Amino acid sequence: MIPCYNEEAAIESFYTELVRQLPDDYQFEIILVDDGSKDGTLNCIKNLAEQDEHVSYISFSRNFGHQNALKAGFDHASGDCAICMDADLQHPPELIKTFIEKWEEGHDIVHSIRTDESTIGKRKKYSSKVFYKILNHFSDVEIQSGMADFRLIDRKVLDQLTNFSENFIFYRGLFPWMGFRQTSISYVANERIAGQTKYTFGKMVRFASIGLTSFSVKPLRYSIYLGLLFAFLAFTYLIYAVLVYLFTDWAITGWTSLVVSIMFFGGINLIMLGVIGEYLGKLFIESKRRPNYLVAESNLNKR
Ligand code: UDP
Ligand code: MG
Repeated sequence: MIPCYNEEAAIESFYTELVRQLPDDYQFEIILVDDGSKDGTLNCIKNLAEQDEHVSYISFSRNFGHQNALKAGFDHASGDCAICMDADLQHPPELIKTFIEKWEEGHDIVHSIRTDESTIGKRKKYSSKVFYKILNHFSDVEIQSGMADFRLIDRKVLDQLTNFSENFIFYRGLFPWMGFRQTSISYVANERIAGQTKYTFGKMVRFASIGLTSFSVKPLRYSIYLGLLFAFLAFTYLIYAVLVYLFTDWAITGWTSLVVSIMFFGGINLIMLGVIGEYLGKLFIESKRRPNYLVAESNLNKR
């Protein structure tokens, strides 16, 4: 399954290359998920579906995001296993053969890890490194650096996946969390064939925040530790100030230090409130139990 958001420039070359690389001795279904694209993506996809009966499509009523597009693919996949990959050929389709080999060896989830990073921009490379460092520090599951949303999943894992109803999905953490027999292969990402990255800075930050808050409450616990540390420091300073006042004939003066410390602690307080707010906001949205995506159009039930 392939999530597509404004990929009209890439989709046809992607499809041609994909079909060229699919092993002949298996039956395939190609599910293209149009994530509320604003360009001609849906038309391209429909054309492909008309030409090729193996192509199915799902079109969302608006942009619901990459992870939800993947969810739609997982929900509708009907095969013994499913492979998800990007529409921009950054995930090399020739690896599908290796995925299937690993699957036939008995692995239920085959991940892919991006190794050589020369083809992805500098900004992406460093932000991704820092992100995985922080994520692994905070979260309770081990997520390998460079993990991509390019993987094979066995039917029995897909069936389990339907029991998950979380709104904020972070598959890179969810799959390692699920267990089963997992393995990974490494790959070198190609350059994007056409178009631009659909992960804007804002989307990346949101994605990172979901990753951080989905697998651990450590950020909350750390705020308690930080609070205790500062309370201790403040208390020590208080004792010092009182002693100075009682036993010497000078008093600690300083309007500046007072204002600076008030602002400093005010800032720390606001950050901690923000962390709590982040969890609370997620709880609020999860509690509404809204669907992850709305389908506007699809040819799945016609098949
Ligand atoms: N994508 C999507 N919805 C979005 C953003 C991205 O379906 O809101 C798709 C996009 O079309 C592509 C895949 O997710 O197939 C990965 O996005 P992209 O290649 O832009 O990310 P990058 O490789 O730069 O991290
Ligand atoms: Mg890409």
